[in-house]
Amino acid sequence: MKRQKCRVCEGDVDKTARALCQKLLDRDAKKFFCLACLADFLETTEDELREKAEEFKNEGCELFR
Ligand SMILES: [Zn+2]
Repeated sequence: MKRQKCRVCEGDVDKTARALCQKLLDRDAKKFFCLACLADFLETTEDELREKAEEFKNEGCELFR
């Protein structure tokens, strides 16, 4: 997997952030947000997003494996 850079701050986009972008924004996203910028964009917090990611994972969402 190619390393992704955040479209806002150019920070590293980790696996969780990447999966969340695909799940919450665009399944075929080519540009990603890091967790901090995604939280900003969605007007939520990083903690909320991590929790969401856990939920999706527990639901068996393939993006979060
Ligand atoms: Zn960022």
